[in-house]
This record gives sequence, C-alpha cells and structure tokens, in this order.
Amino acid sequence: MIADKLAQVTARIASACAWASRPVESVTLLAVSKTFDAAAVRAALAAGATRFGENYVQEGVAKIEALADLREQIEWHLIGPMQSNKTRLVAEHFDWVHSVDRLQVAERLSAQRPERLPPLQVCLQINVSGEATKSGFAPAAARDAALAVSRLPRLRLRGLMAIPEPALGFAAQRVPHRVLHELFETLRHDGFALDTLSAGMSEDLEAAIAEGSTLVRVGSAIFGERPSRPTLGARPG
Ligand SMILES: *Cc1c(COP(=O)(O)O)cnc(C)c1O
Repeated sequence: MIADKLAQVTARIASACAWASRPVESVTLLAVSKTFDAAAVRAALAAGATRFGENYVQEGVAKIEALADLREQIEWHLIGPMQSNKTRLVAEHFDWVHSVDRLQVAERLSAQRPERLPPLQVCLQINVSGEATKSGFAPAAARDAALAVSRLPRLRLRGLMAIPEPALGFAAQRVPHRVLHELFETLRHDGFALDTLSAGMSEDLEAAIAEGSTLVRVGSAIFGERPSRPTLGARPG
C-alpha cells in the first residue's frame, strides 16, 4: 500500500521533471510522516524513502526514538513551527529544520546543537502568500535573516521553504512558487550558497517543480489521508 503510493509519487516527480526539462535527480522527496506511526515509517523506508518530515516536535522526537535502530539510515526533517522552549529537543534530534521563522529560534538552535553532531541544516520559512496567520519571514526580510542565520556557527543555511495558500489548478499554484523561486535566485545572486528550495506538497508538487523546487514535502499522497488537518504552518508544536 505505502510502497504503491510511494511509487506513484516518484512517478509524478519524474514526469514533472520531464515536463520542466529538469533532471530527476534535481528533486528530492521528503516523506511527511506526521500523524502516522513508526510502523508506517518502517514501511516507507523498506519501500525506498530515506528522508522523513515531521511537523510536531514531541511527536517527531518520540518517533525518532522509537526508530533509533534505523537512525543511521534516516534523515529527519522538522517542517513545522516550534515554540522557543522546544528548540533544545529539535537541536538534539533532527538533521534538518525547514521552519526557521524567526531569528531567536535560529540563535537557540545554534547554541543548543550538540558538538558531537554535524551542523543543523536549515531553511528559512518565507510567508510567501503574506497570510497573517502563517509563520515565516516576509520576503522583504529574507536577506537580513539569511545574513544573520548564515553567521550562526552550528547551523548551515541551505535554502528557503514556503507553504503557499492552497490554490486550484496548475497555473494558480505556480504563482506563489514563482515568487519563492525568484527570491531564492536573488539570494543566490547576492552570494548566499543556497541549494535547497523546499516547496510543493501532495496537491501542488508539479507546480512547485515547474518553478524550481528542489525538495517536495509529500504526506497524504504517500501515507493516506490524515484524520484531521490543522491549519498548516500555524500551529506551534
Ligand atoms: C503536512 C505538511 C506537508 C505535507 O502535506 P500533504 O498535503 O499531506 O502532502 C508538507 N509540508 C508541511 C509544512 C506540512 O505541514
């Protein structure tokens, strides 16, 4: 079941890459396992997924600990917002954080990243649709944030992430992804060594890939529908 769905998602990524004349290796799949249990992660790993995304800090840490035997085989990514008092747990357990949405969080993650671990790989979350309820830096604030974060010793700034407002249809879905991609290219032009554009989910991964995404975060298309869907990106965990 999970293996079939994973294969379907991999095929969607391949055809979106072909459509956009991009090499298929230019897009990485992050399997978003939030709300699904450790057994589902094991099944997806057996089917070939190696990168997993979690939204809620405590749920993610519990899963990482339950799957400690597979720690070397899995790259764990936090993709949801965190309260300041959760940064130590994040710094101690995750490999990546996509949801750096304020400088205080970045500073704490750097200070709390254990010396025995490599630097934490991070993306700045950009509030690309300008939604009041959504976390993230305004596009106009991204450059200063990138400068500050890139100077933190225990973080490595890899790129940008966004969760655009849901839109219907390929053309409408492309618009916010294009804005994000342009910001990404501007920062690269300014000298930031960014290689990760974290954009696209189950509903809009084709539009994101058409606009330069290098990492798609896919949950329901792999694991099935989640029981409830809290507003994405709005809930601290
Ligand atoms: C849940 C979630 C996803 C995956 O969403 P699907 O629609 O299930 O693919 C991707 N990114 C973030 C930040 C999420 O919270």
